Formats: sequence, structure tokens, C-alpha cells
Amino acid sequence: MADHYEVLGVSRDATLDEIKKAYRRLARELHPDVNPGEEASERFKLVTHAYDVLSDPEQRQRYDMGGDSPFGGAGAGGFGGFGDIFETFFGAAAGGGGRAGRPRSRRERGQDALVRVTLDLKDVVFGAHRDLDVDTAVLCETCQGSCCQQGTQPVTCDICHGSGHVQQTVRSLLGNVMTTHPCGSCQGYGTTIPYPCATCQGQGRVRARRTVSIDIPAGVETGLRLQLPGSGEVGQAGGPNGDLYLEVTVASHDVFSRDGDDLLATLEVSMPDAILGTTTTIESLDGPVELEIRPGVQGGDVLTIKGRGITPLRGTQRGDLRVGVHVVTPTRLDSKERALIEDFAKKTKAPAPHLSEFHQGLFAKLRDRFRG
Ligand SMILES: [Zn+2]
Ligand SMILES: [Zn+2]
Repeated sequence: MADHYEVLGVSRDATLDEIKKAYRRLARELHPDVNPGEEASERFKLVTHAYDVLSDPEQRQRYDMGGDSPFGGAGAGGFGGFGDIFETFFGAAAGGGGRAGRPRSRRERGQDALVRVTLDLKDVVFGAHRDLDVDTAVLCETCQGSCCQQGTQPVTCDICHGSGHVQQTVRSLLGNVMTTHPCGSCQGYGTTIPYPCATCQGQGRVRARRTVSIDIPAGVETGLRLQLPGSGEVGQAGGPNGDLYLEVTVASHDVFSRDGDDLLATLEVSMPDAILGTTTTIESLDGPVELEIRPGVQGGDVLTIKGRGITPLRGTQRGDLRVGVHVVTPTRLDSKERALIEDFAKKTKAPAPHLSEFHQGLFAKLRDRFRG
């Protein structure tokens, strides 16, 4: 027995909405009216059963706990409920009548659209505003989504008389069998458009470039997708808009890198400054910040500047800016400087180089981030 989640191709924590979407997609592909093959029919049964179980919270819970019996329980049973399937198929079409007899609606929800945006680190720290050009389907201004030339309207389909379906009688060994198919003449809409709008060729929408203003919150990171509900493509025949997704890429910065909500950088400190201590001004993303380096600072020490990191996506408390100290050993000395250092060495009687326990300092980790 195949796993219901696998059959529908959804994860175990899928929402009801995701389950419905997955089922609709599979049903469009496998429904016997669309795909009469034997294998499709078998898969359709599995898919329908999986949907029946997972779309009912009680049955789903029982199934999750391991209590599902193959094709048992309420709502199962192969091809009993065509009406339900058509409802799931085409949305709840208005009007009464027989369930299988409902024509499908010409109005469909528009597709989701995706745009990509590249931000720099400063945008991540403070949030950003962008006006983005998006190419999508928009409502046809000429017909306002009616799909018809001005002054005309759809007419009832001659072939199916408005039901959207045609019935066919097939002779078989068991006698005449009646089958139902979506009407090929009107594609199941029940109406045809004798005079389609010339601007949109009867689609009710046209492709156009428009500008979308987007406020990007602070704290985003590469790969994140922001959802803007209703800003995607307009649907066919004036159907509701899909969503717009904004996929973020954050460009790497010359100096700062990100560690969670903190920013990291290296502070290059000369040997005399490390020994004597100093006060310096560093250029943070917030502007100049005064930083005190205590006398005797060691390479690998980390200085933390509170609240100069990133505001998390969900939260208000900014992270910190952490700078790892790198003490720069002078490599070129003239003879006078050399004499001074030699004199200093004699006076301080510093211990000779010696081993101690290996320690992987935070600074080493900081440095590794820059190499990656
Ligand atoms: Zn039009
Ligand atoms: Zn028709």
C-alpha cells in the first residue's frame, strides 16, 4: 500500500490547502475523462483515496497514527463520487443542476509570478524599498475581462447545450454504457464566444509590464521568498490574481559578513597600538563608531559593538557587530627600528617561544568565514 503523502507528492506536514492543490493537479492529469488509460485509472483511484483520507482531519489523524485500511472507511470507493471530483476540479461553480452537469467556469485564478532581486548588506540591515518591473498577465482594458467584443456576449454552446459535457453511448458486452466527457466544442465552459475581444483574443487578459512597489523587511537572506498575495498574474476572464513571489539574493560585502543576526569583520591593529592601546573610529554600516582598544589586546580577541548588527526578520532586537582583532606584525624595519625592538626585547625578557594547548579561537572561526 503506497503512502498517501507520497501518492499526492506532499510532505507529511502539508496543509489542507497544499493537499487540495496537489490533488487538483493530479486529478487534471489522471481523471478518466482526460486520461482513459488503464494505468492512469489505477493511479487515479490511489490519488483519490489518498485525498479522501488526508483531506478529512479525523481520517488523516487516524492514518498518521497508522490506522488506515486500504480503500476502507468513509468517502472511499473508487469512482463513486464524480460530482465531488468535478467540484474539486473546477471550483464551486455557481448554479444548481446535476453535479456532473456543471459547466466549468471560464474565470480562473491567475498564476503566481516570481521576480528576483539582489540586495546589498545595507539593505538587509535596514530594510529596503524597490520599484520592480514585472512582466505578467494583466486585465484586458478593452473588454474588462469579459473576453467578448464590446456589445456582444458568450452564447450557449450548440453541442452540449450549456452543460459543458457531452454524453456518449458505447456498446460493450455488458450492454450500452454511457460515458461523460467535457465538451470539445466549448472546452467544458458551456458557452462559446462568437466575437472574441480583439485586444486579448478572447482571453480577458494581456501581457504587460508594470511596476510593483515593494518594501523589503530587514533581516532577509539569500534564497528567501517573500510572498505578495494578489500581486501575481490576473486570471483568465478576469479571474482573481495569483501571488507574486520575490526571491532575494544578498550580494557579499567587501568587509562585513553575516553570522545569524550579527555582523562580523576583522580589525587590523598595528603592534604598537596593540601594546599601548588606542581609540579609533571604524566605519560601520550605521556610520562611524568609536572603538576603544585596550592596551595589551591580543590577536583573536573579539570586540563587540552592541546593536550594530542585523534586525531579525521576525523581531526588533538588532544583533551585534563583532570585530576580531588581528595584530599586524611589522615585516620591514629599518636599522634604527630594529635596534629599538632588540632593545625592547632585552629589557622585557619575554619568554622564548613555547608550546601550549591547541586552541581553536573564535578568531580562527571568524577568519574562516572570509575564506569561504
Ligand atoms: Zn479583451
Ligand atoms: Zn459545449
